[in-house]
Amino acid sequence: MSPPRFLFAEHALLPDGWAQDVMLGWDDAGMLIEVRAGAAPEGPRAAGPVLPGMPNLHSHAFQRAFAGLTEYRSAAADSFWTWRDAMYRFALSVSPEQLEAIATQLYVEMLRAGYTSVCEFHYLHHSPSGAPYAEPAEMALRLAAAAQRAGIGLTLLPVLYCHAGFGATPPRADQRRFINSVDGLLRIAQRCLEQGARIGIAPHSLRAVAPDELIEVLNGSRAIDATAPFHLHIAEQQVEVDECIAWCGARPVQWLLDHAPVDRHWCLVHATHIEPSEAQALADRSAIVGLCPTTEANLGDGVFDATTYFDAGGRWGVGSDSHASVSVVDELRMLEYGQRLMRQQRNVLASRALPGIAERLWLEAAEGGAQAAAQPIGRLEAGRRADFVVLDASGVQSQLTPAQTLASAVFVQAGARPIRDVWVAGRQRVAEGVHALDATAQAAFVAARTQLLNGS
Ligand SMILES: [Zn+2]
Repeated sequence: MSPPRFLFAEHALLPDGWAQDVMLGWDDAGMLIEVRAGAAPEGPRAAGPVLPGMPNLHSHAFQRAFAGLTEYRSAAADSFWTWRDAMYRFALSVSPEQLEAIATQLYVEMLRAGYTSVCEFHYLHHSPSGAPYAEPAEMALRLAAAAQRAGIGLTLLPVLYCHAGFGATPPRADQRRFINSVDGLLRIAQRCLEQGARIGIAPHSLRAVAPDELIEVLNGSRAIDATAPFHLHIAEQQVEVDECIAWCGARPVQWLLDHAPVDRHWCLVHATHIEPSEAQALADRSAIVGLCPTTEANLGDGVFDATTYFDAGGRWGVGSDSHASVSVVDELRMLEYGQRLMRQQRNVLASRALPGIAERLWLEAAEGGAQAAAQPIGRLEAGRRADFVVLDASGVQSQLTPAQTLASAVFVQAGARPIRDVWVAGRQRVAEGVHALDATAQAAFVAARTQLLNGS
């Protein structure tokens, strides 16, 4: 018997807000062909309010096995940079098999947390010696295999990493697994494409990629796939901004806007330290800012001025980045709470059109994440993929309206499992908080992490 291809939701969060009695229908390919409000109840019913599945626009999968290992003081003043040294030591020993195990567990966790697709900002390319594998895309294809097994959508972003710092500083020995020429990186991207992956290209940062290499990789990637999105880290740390100014006289985002064709195909990850003029320019170009609030908090990056950027009409999405936390709810809460703490106000990121803070954040993050992933996802409407999540509206939540249930899940009483059910491309991957691979993925992850911690 083929599985049902429709679901009735008493409440669903459509692009304009909550709608009642919504029938969702999709085709064999898992694409929505019908989203109709005011429908008569029929067939399978969602157990709670339905929301669009959240794209995770920034992930370094291998760092999931490293999360939680650096929460102690190791230097007089621990920082992003001391964390990065420790992370590099860890990255040097991850094998292809270990990466697949780590990523499978991570993607299962993402699904349970409400993420239905992920952009992998992937730079761990080569063998531990720094020599390429016989299959140059070995590590990237392990991520694709993990995504396939877990059942999460994927945009694979092979990362171009050439230098240790501004001014084409030679790479460090402990960066040897990341380093590629432009041609080498494009070969990896081509292999991923041949294996059926949706790809984009990620020039790592202005620190790691020189101006001529940036333009070369953009042009080269267009020849492979004209629709590929571009992602890069930018302005995450104040030190980085200062070094950029010392190098070229301009702030990183300003330099990028002046020297690259930044438009809606671009995702600028972090952009924590920007001026209001840079925020306005990014909004005008329709680029995405990739916010990773829990990682940015964990690493002490700073607080992104979302109020100014949102007021400028800026587009954005969220990523779990280092996986200090793997939770849509945590990211949205941290984003809003950072603004509240900064401004000594409440409900800072609400809008006139969507005064409910949780609805506004969820809808915009999903839409922006879809743009960054360059995939037809992120909205409950015909033509998009049938990626959606069902909130847990049981117990104390059952007395609340759908809007209150969402706000409560995001901001106040998230509980252990705010997300009850998760569907990707019309296939249910999480049922009542459980994924079919929960036990096996966790066992393989624990084994891989144990090997890494024991240095074997
Ligand atoms: Zn990152």
